[in-house]
Amino acid sequence: MRKSQMMRDRLRGLTGWMSTGLMLLSLVACQAPSTDSSVAAEAPGAAAESQATDGPLLITDGTVVTMDATDTIIEDGAVAVADGRIVAVGTASELQAEYASARRVSAGGGIIMPGLINTHTHVPMVLFRGLADDLKLMDWLENHIFPAEAKHVDEEFVRWGTRLACLEMLRGGTTTFVDMYFFEDAIAEEADRCGMRAVVGESLIDFPTPDHKTWDAAVAYTRNFVARWKGHPRITPAVAPHAPYTVSADHLKEAHALAAELEVPLVIHLAEDRTAIERVTKATGFSPVNYLDSLGILDDRVLAAHMVWPSPEEIALLVERDVGVAHNPQSNMKISAGVAPVPAMLAAGVAVGLGTDGAASNNDLDMWEEIDTAAKLHKVTSADATVVSAREALRMATIDGARALDMEAEIGSLEVGKRADVILVGTDGFHQQPSYNAYSLLTYSTKSSDVETVIIEGRVVMEQGQVLTVDAAGVLAKAAEYRDRIAAE
Ligand SMILES: [Zn+2]
Repeated sequence: MRKSQMMRDRLRGLTGWMSTGLMLLSLVACQAPSTDSSVAAEAPGAAAESQATDGPLLITDGTVVTMDATDTIIEDGAVAVADGRIVAVGTASELQAEYASARRVSAGGGIIMPGLINTHTHVPMVLFRGLADDLKLMDWLENHIFPAEAKHVDEEFVRWGTRLACLEMLRGGTTTFVDMYFFEDAIAEEADRCGMRAVVGESLIDFPTPDHKTWDAAVAYTRNFVARWKGHPRITPAVAPHAPYTVSADHLKEAHALAAELEVPLVIHLAEDRTAIERVTKATGFSPVNYLDSLGILDDRVLAAHMVWPSPEEIALLVERDVGVAHNPQSNMKISAGVAPVPAMLAAGVAVGLGTDGAASNNDLDMWEEIDTAAKLHKVTSADATVVSAREALRMATIDGARALDMEAEIGSLEVGKRADVILVGTDGFHQQPSYNAYSLLTYSTKSSDVETVIIEGRVVMEQGQVLTVDAAGVLAKAAEYRDRIAAE
């Protein structure tokens, strides 16, 4: 009890966290660190298998919603795939002759579109889904989430949580996710086994974490982690300093220098709620965006999660520095963090993607809900029904998310030369009929359960609603075990 109280006091003194990035802090100092598991330097064993594709595919019998720059939509269209990449996009009649020997994948008259990109989450937290809802932040964190994480988060937890998250994400058509948590090498391995694409970064914080006693140990781990995964076709390692209120100026600069040296993205929570902003401003004299700029680390390498309270000047700076933003509308709402100025950011030209954040504050990893919410939420706060159109919301979940990650040359739209991350969405649900406009249908009417088939890097990983790469029964049984164990305390 006393140790727990000391932990809470210590944590209370550290930050005024908001949002779920904050949950990362819950692990601080509350668990004896396990071994400083260094990451093997060799290439992942699963890489060879993960690169396997299903041979040439011809995806046909549907409407192709490309999400390209000119919003091309092809009725009775087709997409040809070979060696993990898109080799042709056109009408079915054009492509059927040319790719006559390719394996056919039918969209059943539905929609053929790019896979969804979740630009911010903490996937293992699915095992805390629904553990504590409708609470004030500090009560939720200190009395529910912190103790649960202290007791339960280890590498095994992270592996099972990632498997469950992959099942949920694949079922709903998410093909790429951006993660920051702990034991990130295990998360990368599990994402790879599931056949997903992911940008993954070990959280770097100025305090002890479950897997590292010191900042230097976590940085050394990150260096090895990046060396292990860099060049993998689907797993992109990143450097992930938690936030400017949990990482010192020197350490932020060190993290950025590491990302620059290793040529990988930098993922960070930024301007996520008023308390977090006040803390940074009080300590540094700068608002968070200006603070990172004053340190010389605000650039196109940065993906900033949340960005709920940037000033107009800071929005201009985000554009000037080519910073990507992950907008998490449902998490921001549930945790009462505020409403990000997305219409202003989009108008200014900021690359804004969508994210779910962790499942303890959402409580799911369903990108269709984020698309629908993003399109509606900003109409409420702006009193302007024309902002964030259905098309813009869908772009944030696809090509704009890719832009935020600096990956738009590879993913986010169905165009020749890009990686073949394609989802087939059924359109014959009662809730989808009749349909006058594809963007309206997808943004406002479609549910994750309408996704039928998921193809990543040219490999079919879900077919007719069945995820092929994860043993769902085993994962659900394990999730029930975790539930029983956690609920018993
Ligand atoms: Zn977060």
